Amino acid sequence: MAYRIQGETGEWEVVIGLEVHAQVISQAKLFSGAATAFGAAPNSQVSFVDAAFPGMLPVINGFCVEQAVKTGLGLKAKINLRSIFDRKNYFYADLPFGYQISQFKDPIVGEGTLVLDLADGETRSVGIERLHLEMDAGKSLHDQHPSKTYVDLNRAGVALMEIVSKPDMRSPEEAAAYLRKLRTILRYLETCDGNMEEGSMRCDINVSVRKPGQPLGTRTETKNVNSIRFVQQAIEYEAQRQVEVLESGGSIVQETRLWDTAKGVTRSMRSKEEAHDYRYFPDPDLLPLELDPAFVERIKATLPELPDEKKARFIAQYHLTPYDAGILVAEKARADFYETVAKGRDGKMAANYVIGDLLGALNKTGKDISESPISAADLGALIDLVSDNTLSGRLAKDVFAEMLDSGKAPGLIVEEKGLRQVTDTGAIDGAIDQVMAANADKVAEYRSGKDKLFGFFVGQVMRATQGKANPALVNERLLAKLKG
Ligand code: ADP
Ligand code: MG
Repeated sequence: MAYRIQGETGEWEVVIGLEVHAQVISQAKLFSGAATAFGAAPNSQVSFVDAAFPGMLPVINGFCVEQAVKTGLGLKAKINLRSIFDRKNYFYADLPFGYQISQFKDPIVGEGTLVLDLADGETRSVGIERLHLEMDAGKSLHDQHPSKTYVDLNRAGVALMEIVSKPDMRSPEEAAAYLRKLRTILRYLETCDGNMEEGSMRCDINVSVRKPGQPLGTRTETKNVNSIRFVQQAIEYEAQRQVEVLESGGSIVQETRLWDTAKGVTRSMRSKEEAHDYRYFPDPDLLPLELDPAFVERIKATLPELPDEKKARFIAQYHLTPYDAGILVAEKARADFYETVAKGRDGKMAANYVIGDLLGALNKTGKDISESPISAADLGALIDLVSDNTLSGRLAKDVFAEMLDSGKAPGLIVEEKGLRQVTDTGAIDGAIDQVMAANADKVAEYRSGKDKLFGFFVGQVMRATQGKANPALVNERLLAKLKG
């Protein structure tokens, strides 16, 4: 169902476009050889180029270019064989150049698409407008000294990919699905670690509202929101605010806003600067970037199987629902784990154990699949014990819980605890005879037509065997014996 905001004058539709700054995974910066590791001591990873010393010249890092092309290919986007680096001029203490080297009119990557996986297993396509390379600025630290601001240039010059979507999203949930999917793709490609808390993926949110069917409204842009949950909250707040402004006869000004995490509101920061305020012009220190088609083809050949393709394959090969397949491919490590478990086994059963049991349990303790106390091989072995009737489904739950606790292999737990399912008909018949002898009155009642008592007998036999009797056999043998 479409997401709508109910106003006094009727229903409003929300229109969202996202700009994501994704830090490129690279040992060195975009135009210098300085290191990029997170968490280093302030100003310990700064070259003369990054500090804009006079006479220093930027030299493009070929690996960052490869990463941008790889990302473009992963977004099914057009790779522009000729792109241009521009200077975006502005003054800030953490920007020693006095400009940012970015790409404006001619970005390295053009239009592409990203497929959203929505909660109901449905999908929807969102257009990508462009992806361009640019350098990050330094960081101003306002909280280190009562009256001074410190500048840390470690981040200055680090390569960013700015990935701009079309205004194709229509709800906070779709925006969240977009960010999750983009992060998944970047991680599969290993071009950005997607870690929003560390700031390696930051999001600017463009929001406008309109009556359904009307032309696009004026948008505001909320800068640098650093978690998916905050992105959703900021959109909800901002859309509601715009509806209230418009319905009370006001108009929306195109402006840059900030998300106030503590108060849960967006606040005006500055009216929107126009592109011409930045006096963009081609950087005379850098030649246009010309790519050889063979270079692009070589990168294409190294692309891994991406989440959409993997999902389609899981559905076809393991007969999974789109919803289950979507959950499994959301992380590459998760998909790999699943495939190890599913190999040579029932794919649907493997999915139930991985998603329902393992991911459910890991979720409770906030653990990632890479920290799972149960290995894929052991989970597979547990499934085998169910398939060959050593364990009933119910006993398997107990063994699973013990595996989670102790990390022990399922076979070992079965031996240690004597949990092996009883499938020996002699033993089961013995238990049934005992139960019938101890409940002669109930047997008589059953035989005179009180069918409901059957469940009682099953319960008693299971109890007599400490839950280890094979349930199907118990049913079969009981029916036969009670008939008399
Ligand atoms: P700028 O450089 O000023 O931020 P862009 O052309 O790069 O402008 O667009 C920024 C983002 O705004 C894009 O993600 C685009 O989809 C989005 N956008 C454009 N128009 C609207 C609108 N009317 N409502 C919501 N988002 C919009
Ligand atoms: Mg913008």
